[in-house]
Amino acid sequence: MSQSYRLLQADNGAVSRALIFFGFVIAAALSLAVLFAVAITQFFGVPAGQDDFMLTTVVIAACVASPMAALAAQNQYRVDRYQTTLEAMASTDPLTGLLNRRAFKSLAEEELERMRRTDSGVCLVLFDLDHFKQVNDTHGHAFGDRVLTSIANISHGALRGPFDRLGRWGGEEFIILLSNVTLEQASGVCERLRKRIAGSDLTFNGQSARVTASFGVAQLHPEMGLQDCIEKADRLLYEAKKNGRNCVRCEPRIRTAA
Ligand code: GH3
Ligand code: MG
Ligand code: MG
Repeated sequence: MSQSYRLLQADNGAVSRALIFFGFVIAAALSLAVLFAVAITQFFGVPAGQDDFMLTTVVIAACVASPMAALAAQNQYRVDRYQTTLEAMASTDPLTGLLNRRAFKSLAEEELERMRRTDSGVCLVLFDLDHFKQVNDTHGHAFGDRVLTSIANISHGALRGPFDRLGRWGGEEFIILLSNVTLEQASGVCERLRKRIAGSDLTFNGQSARVTASFGVAQLHPEMGLQDCIEKADRLLYEAKKNGRNCVRCEPRIRTAA
């Protein structure tokens, strides 16, 4: 079954449910109108003059409109919450809670546009945990997952709130977008983060490990595409790995020792 056919089927289901809801609202509104009309005529008699008729009509309309409006508002609230949850799920990495690759790219493209308009400095960082396979092999995959979550928290704590964006690029690789920074400042941020990661004692369920990370830092240029910049950061990360790991490599060759 093709995906578009399945989507069409799902869409048909939504249309049917919307029509059923529409029918339910009409039936409820009509029943309420009749109920109020009968109750009013029982208590006050059939309206005689034009004023009484208008007043009765307004009272019935208000009595019907209020529960219908409440129903519509409740429905809208549920739809909004559902949509917010779906959007959050679609943009978040489920393990670490960081931006996933797709969401990060979309934010980075926006930042690139802003940078072109304002001529501010933006740097991109890729960092990868060193010998992470050994951590999994020694302590198990669940422990490895806890380490990844801790590294996400440590990294988040080392950045400047909404100005810097942090994402999980995949596996044990993370990506950062640093706004309004020079290359030297970006290198300094990475060096601080590198030390923080290397100095963290990661203990879960009585098992302990220490991990290090290697960093590649590239500067975005207005004429450069995001993909080019990511590739440059990746090449620098590769150099950091070749250089012995647990270090920061950035262009032009500013190298900070481990
Ligand atoms: P290097 O220093 O060269 O980066 O070595 P490495 O061992 O970190 O790299 P390698 O690519 O050989 O192994 C990556 C490991 O990361 C293997 C994989 O099982 C682990 N990994 C990737 N994603 C996850 C995850 O979500 N959870 C856990 N626990 N491990 C993961
Ligand atoms: Mg690795
Ligand atoms: Mg890797």
